Amino acid sequence: MADFSHLVIGAGVVGLAVSARLARHRTASVLLVERHNAIGTETSARNSEVIHAGLYYPPDSLKTRLCIRGKHLLYQTAAEAGIAHRKCGKWIIAQNENEHEYLENLHDKAKTLGISTEFIPLSRVKDIEPSVLARSAVLNSPTTGIVSAHELMAYLHGQFESHSGDLALGTAVTRIEYDASRKLYNVRFRTITAASQQHDSDEMELKFENVVNCAGLSAPAVSNLLLPQHRHVMPFYAKGSYFSYGSSKPKTERLIYPCPTGHAGLGTHLTLDLAGRIRFGPNVEWVDSPANLAPSGNQLDQVYEAVIKYLPGVDKSALSADYAGIRPKITGPEHNAFTDFVIQMEQGFPGFVNLLGIESPGLTSSLAIGEYVENLYYKSS
Ligand SMILES: Cc1cc2nc3c(=O)[nH]c(=O)nc-3n(C[C@H](O)[C@H](O)[C@H](O)COP(=O)(O)OP(=O)(O)OC[C@H]3O[C@@H](n4cnc5c(N)ncnc54)[C@H](O)[C@@H]3O)c2cc1C
Repeated sequence: MADFSHLVIGAGVVGLAVSARLARHRTASVLLVERHNAIGTETSARNSEVIHAGLYYPPDSLKTRLCIRGKHLLYQTAAEAGIAHRKCGKWIIAQNENEHEYLENLHDKAKTLGISTEFIPLSRVKDIEPSVLARSAVLNSPTTGIVSAHELMAYLHGQFESHSGDLALGTAVTRIEYDASRKLYNVRFRTITAASQQHDSDEMELKFENVVNCAGLSAPAVSNLLLPQHRHVMPFYAKGSYFSYGSSKPKTERLIYPCPTGHAGLGTHLTLDLAGRIRFGPNVEWVDSPANLAPSGNQLDQVYEAVIKYLPGVDKSALSADYAGIRPKITGPEHNAFTDFVIQMEQGFPGFVNLLGIESPGLTSSLAIGEYVENLYYKSS
C-alpha cells in the first residue's frame, strides 16, 4: 500500500508546476520534497526571468512546443493571479550578413509557428531605441516579456496546498528502489536541519506509486539512483554570470539580444527587471561542479566586449558582478548541436517520469511542462 500516489522531487518552478497540476486530481495524493529549507532557491531563482516567445529551437522539439504553450499559459495565469509581469518585447540584433540571414530564417520559422515577429527598418532604429547599434538588421519579437519567477512560484505553491498537496522542505531523496512485484517505489529521505544545513541522522522511507524527477541540476544524479548503470546520465554545467548596471544611461525600453553564436546560450543580452533596471548576462562558462554560485567577476571584460557591440555607450565602470545561474545541461561543450528537454516515463519503471536538461526556456515552459507531465499520467481519464 502506497503512502502517496505521487512523489515530486524538487520544488523549483518546474516541480511546483508539476505538483500543482497533479494535486488537482481527485484520486492523487502528492508529496513534493525539496532539500533546501525554502522553495525555488536554485536555478529558478537565478535566471533572466524572460518569457520567451519560442523562436530559437527546432519546430518539432519539446522546447518549441512547451515554450509556446507555456508562454500562453503564463501570460494568462499571470494576468488572472496578479503575478508581476510585463510584455515589454525584445529586439534581436544582426551585425553582419551572416547574422542577418540567421534572423531571416528565424522570422520564416516564426511565421510557420504562428509567432509574431517583424523586421524594424534600420532607418527607424535610432528613433525607437537611440542607444542601440544595429549594423545589419533588427528583428522585433513583441510577445517576449518578463515575469517575477518568485511570485510565480509563490502562486504555484498556493495552488498546490489549496489542493491538499504536501510539501516537505529540508528533505533530500537519497535512495529510490522499484518493487516490481508490488508496483511501488520505496524512497529513502534524509532530513536536513535548518540551522546547520547539515544532514542529521533522521532518515525515513515511504512508498509511492509514481515518482517525478524535477531535481534540476541534480536530476541526472536522482535518475542514476534508480536506473541501471548503462542508462546513467552524465550532467554538465554551463554557468552564466550576470552584471548589474549602475548608470541611468544608456537605457532601453525593451530586451536587447545579440544573435546566438552556439547552442550553449542565447548570447550575452540586456534584460530588464520589473523595476526597469538593466542587467547584462548571462555569458557561458563551463564548470565542473554546480557548487560555486558566486558570479564570476573575472568575466566582466568578456561581458563588456559582448555588450558594446549592440550598446556602444555602456559605461564599463558601472558594471558589477551581480549573481549567477547554472544551466542544467545533459550534453557538454563539445556537443555543438541542439539538445532538447527530456521528459519521459522511463521504460521498465512504470510511473517514474524523468525531467532532464530543463534549461532555458524552462521558466517560460513550466506551466506547459506541468500539463505535459499530467498527461503522461492521466491522458485517458
Ligand atoms: C543563467 C540562466 C538563465 C535562464 N534564463 C531563463 C529565462 O530567461 N527564461 C526561461 O524561460 N528560462 C530561463 N532559464 C531556465 C530556467 O531557469 C530553468 O529551466 C528552470 O528554473 C528550471 O526549474 P527546475 O524546477 O527544473 O529546477 P530548479 O529550480 O533547479 O529546482 C530543482 C530543485 O530540486 C531540488 N533537489 C535537487 N536534488 C534533490 C534531492 N535529491 N532531494 C530533494 N530535492 C532536490 C533542488 O534543491 C532544487 O530546488 C535560465 C537558466 C539559467 C541557468
